[in-house]
Amino acid sequence: MADSSLNPFLRAQQAFKEAVETLNLEPAVYELLRQPLRFFEVAVPFIRDDGTLQVFTGYRAHHNDALGPTKGGLRFHPDVNADEVKALSMWMTVKCALLGLPYGGGKGGIACDPEQLSELELERLSREYIRSIASVIGPDKDIPAPDVSTNPQIMAWMVDEYSRIRGENTFGMITGKPLVIGGSAGRVEATGRGLLLAVREMARQINIDFTQSRVAIQGFGNVGSVAALAATELGARVVSVSDKEGGIFNPDGLDIKDVLAYKQVHRNVTGYPQSEPIANADVLELPVDILIPAALENVITADNAGRIRARIVGEGANGPTTEEADNILFEKGVMVVPDILANAGGVTVSYFEWVQNQMRFYWTEEEVFRRLEEMMGAAIEAMHDMHEHYGVSLRRAAYLVAVDRIAQAMRVRGWLR
Ligand code: GLU
Repeated sequence: MADSSLNPFLRAQQAFKEAVETLNLEPAVYELLRQPLRFFEVAVPFIRDDGTLQVFTGYRAHHNDALGPTKGGLRFHPDVNADEVKALSMWMTVKCALLGLPYGGGKGGIACDPEQLSELELERLSREYIRSIASVIGPDKDIPAPDVSTNPQIMAWMVDEYSRIRGENTFGMITGKPLVIGGSAGRVEATGRGLLLAVREMARQINIDFTQSRVAIQGFGNVGSVAALAATELGARVVSVSDKEGGIFNPDGLDIKDVLAYKQVHRNVTGYPQSEPIANADVLELPVDILIPAALENVITADNAGRIRARIVGEGANGPTTEEADNILFEKGVMVVPDILANAGGVTVSYFEWVQNQMRFYWTEEEVFRRLEEMMGAAIEAMHDMHEHYGVSLRRAAYLVAVDRIAQAMRVRGWLR
């Protein structure tokens, strides 16, 4: 990658380095955190519908497991690569530690374009991937989940394949499953709901009334669409949403339910009648109160950060803001609610799902959301205390909370000398 500021792995390393220095921890903490403890690259062969064999590259990273088994999603996307997976696993370590989950960070994926695959091909590929990594995952080892372009159906094929290999039902090996085979109530909505919880609370702290706010959302997938719906339900006006084909804009607010119905039929939001088209990049620069990047990394960079007009950026995606952009936004007084907190609702309810799988006793949606609110509230408070204490951005503060906890675990386990 030509511009190193856009390499997510280097970005993640830098963030750990700064946190270790600020907390004045032993240098060994950074030496252990600067790369995954284990990293697997696998060739995933599978048979296309026409009978030919194709081999994709798959990955799984176990970044750090001092606090518990590694946990994190699986991404199916043409741009998936080793450095991206490593970075995403590092961000999961921070996220889990910040939320107080008994997990370390993991991540995986396959470099593929799922839109070019039939349903049957997607199933075969998912099963083959699980065969390739079966020996390094498991309910007490490493627990995958959905991420970009993966969903409960894919999790179902994967838990089925793993259970066949093991010869026993092993629901706790993956989360984000359909309800009927050990999924948790609320898991699908969890990331979007958690995002709004975090953004609403941080908005309140700077006297912005969320219910009166104008919101723009880039990305209308697992995270963006739920956040959009939840935001309108709370009374906010969602003026723009977008997916990879482009965006739609209506200054009076979009009818999100209707946009969702439109997307079901047309696959994308583009062309939705009660709106004007808008380019994906322009969605980020709209004059709104709250901007939610909920797609991929590196969308807010040094090039466009100066033009962001939102007062709050709530990071639904992982890594949407580069370090330089972060600094520019901080200088401008834009509050960035960092990904490692803002989108942590997903992994938190994944944790609840795993707990329910171990207990074989399932909670109501009400109980799930009550516990989610409790855990997000505690994380916000811990982050906020660090923010006040060190006078650093919310992201840096979140890293300080997390790295401090991980270092304590590594210390008592005897990993630091
Ligand atoms: N992929 C989601 C994330 O980035 C969820 C991970 C999980 O549930 O384990 O946080």
